[in-house]
Amino acid sequence: MKKIFLFGNWKMNNGLEETKIFFKDLTAQICEDAVICDQLERSFLEVCIFPPFTSLYVGAEILAQNVKKGIFLGGQNGFYEDKGAFTGEISLPMLKETGCSHVLIGHSERRHIMGETDDLIHKKLQAALHHGLTPVLCFGETLSERESDLTFEVIERQILKAVNGLTKEEIKKTIWAYEPVWAIGTGRTASPENAEEACSYARTLLCNYGNIDIEGEGHRDVHILYGGSVKAANVASLLEEPDIDGALIGGASITADSMLEIIHES
Ligand code: 13P
Repeated sequence: MKKIFLFGNWKMNNGLEETKIFFKDLTAQICEDAVICDQLERSFLEVCIFPPFTSLYVGAEILAQNVKKGIFLGGQNGFYEDKGAFTGEISLPMLKETGCSHVLIGHSERRHIMGETDDLIHKKLQAALHHGLTPVLCFGETLSERESDLTFEVIERQILKAVNGLTKEEIKKTIWAYEPVWAIGTGRTASPENAEEACSYARTLLCNYGNIDIEGEGHRDVHILYGGSVKAANVASLLEEPDIDGALIGGASITADSMLEIIHES
């Protein structure tokens, strides 16, 4: 049985009140289904929510009061220096102190809207591993790159830049997320076949780099998610693919009802 990861990236949505309601509803309702509760308990299912920075603390407090194994909190970004004159940035130790165990790194909106480079992303990945956070490293091509047949070239560049110098254990500790930019927020989900093809390619790259036997069981410890217009109606077909270990969900993760529906369908 493969472990499933269902991660919700709220982006710039949900202030304090909405966050309170979300975490109260999620923690109250998730164990109404005994099978889901059992999968969380036995670490066959991992749920992580990535609220905006200002909503993290309130989410952490509610999670601490309603301890449920298998539900985690993550930051949407984090800077590689621990402290100093970096106006507007949040450090990885600050995220940890606030209750985060995970951090998104290199999301396409950070790459393409905020101009983050492969080098910056690599530094953040190293820093997150150094601080014991679980990095969720995002990669994926834009529409014009796909239309120019550059999908695999882009995936290879982004992954090889990110993975440079990482040990086998660090590759396994990192969660990798394929998010084709053309599928994000567009309602245009990649077909399970397209998503599988990209995730399988990424797995091969990561296993080759880390000297991980792709034919053996070790490759199952390299976790790769798909993100881009995932919802309750399409999550199961994506998760059926052998190289897709979970979903990174944007729009459909911002209410507890919709996130719970996705968890039920998975
Ligand atoms: P949507 O699910 O809204 O397409 O967003 C995907 C995403 O960017 C998650 O990180």
